[in-house]
Amino acid sequence: MALYVQKYGGTSVGSVERIEAVADKLKKFKDQGHDLVVAVSAMSGETNRLISLAKEVQETPSPREMDVLVSTGEQVTIALLCMALEKRGIPARSYTGSQVRILTDSAHTKARIQDIDVERIQGDLAQGRVVVVAGFQGADAEGNITTLGRGGSDTTGVALAAALKADECQIYTDVDGVYTTDPRVVEGACRLERITFEEMLEMASLGSKILQIRSVEFAGKYKVPLRVLSSFEEGPGTLITIEEEETVEKPVISGIAFNRDEAKLTVLGVPDIPGVASKILVPVSDANIEVDMIVQNIAADQTTDFTFTVHRNDYNKAEEVLRAVATELEAREVVGNNKIAKVSIVGVGMRSHAGVASKMFDALAKEGINIQMISTSEIKVSVVIAEKYLELAVRALHSAFDLDKVDTVSE
Ligand code: ADP
Ligand code: ASP
Ligand code: MG
Repeated sequence: MALYVQKYGGTSVGSVERIEAVADKLKKFKDQGHDLVVAVSAMSGETNRLISLAKEVQETPSPREMDVLVSTGEQVTIALLCMALEKRGIPARSYTGSQVRILTDSAHTKARIQDIDVERIQGDLAQGRVVVVAGFQGADAEGNITTLGRGGSDTTGVALAAALKADECQIYTDVDGVYTTDPRVVEGACRLERITFEEMLEMASLGSKILQIRSVEFAGKYKVPLRVLSSFEEGPGTLITIEEEETVEKPVISGIAFNRDEAKLTVLGVPDIPGVASKILVPVSDANIEVDMIVQNIAADQTTDFTFTVHRNDYNKAEEVLRAVATELEAREVVGNNKIAKVSIVGVGMRSHAGVASKMFDALAKEGINIQMISTSEIKVSVVIAEKYLELAVRALHSAFDLDKVDTVSE
């Protein structure tokens, strides 16, 4: 008998039929004698629908009211799922985030979980009930409703599993595990039997939206056994592991992540003197704009070109800030491009292999894809390219690193 925390995403609870199917699945686990705590998302499309309703009323609604609004999606699914369970003779209780007492900070729309009161949940489990908790939401110390950022139900699931010391946190979604890259983009993508937390964190940070970044951080920090599986079909899914496997033939690259949400800005002809980088970047961060990749290059005429990337939504605001900075610094010009994408290869195997980056650049060159920016870390290489080449680049890299042949033999 085990305690499982299971999270079901939007597509998995996207209709009454799907909710009934989840209840059937939960019944099977319950019949086997397991204890279950379930975190659910809103029905697919619901959070987007609520956001667009808000935009119809006010262009920039207050984050506090946004949270009151978007948290309602999950409240619908917890109640419907409990009804479906009770119909099957399984006692169940639904709770919103604030009823459980998922305590968060007050950063509306991107709050962080600080503490979870597990007493009530444990009481229900002791009574043989299935506990169904609304994902994506909590409440701050003053009782204001908060939400955890898009995809935040993953983090609710993992945080509940950590607080309850569950045997496993199982993320049920619409694909049967973590793949070498998004299977909706590359047909030959393969399911990975395992992936390390470190790699999963890089994949999530670099744009793979299968798990919210914070859920992976949380799972790594609290050593929560984490598995991604399909709610539509049976299978072992993908286990996110702490240890690197000591297999003889470790793949150099485990996966490819990509992100279309990027835009690039360059200040040309900045005087090459100390303090320039901070003079450019401080006003950008003061405007609440997050900067991703940064490249600075010195030209022969004692000036530098300073390039960085931001989220595409922040492009216009960043350009405005830079124009003011450029005038002040007597720089030549500000240029930008919001039709770019970032493609990254990720793998702990890179640590012990030379030539990974050059193999990547070679594969892109063979397809005639120009690299605009490069950044590397111990376990990843990222490049910025024109957005129109994104899918071609991902496919070319998938083949170049032999990911079409990844061994996915079941345990
Ligand atoms: P849920 O609604 O269950 O939270 P998401 O849409 O957030 O589901 O995440 C699942 C989706 O993540 C898949 O449908 C798939 O298109 C996408 N995805 C992106 N990268 C990967 C990857 N490397 N492996 C598997 N799925 C991926
Ligand atoms: N419903 C929220 C969203 O669409 C949270 C989640 O699904 O994880 O982002
Ligand atoms: Mg998700």
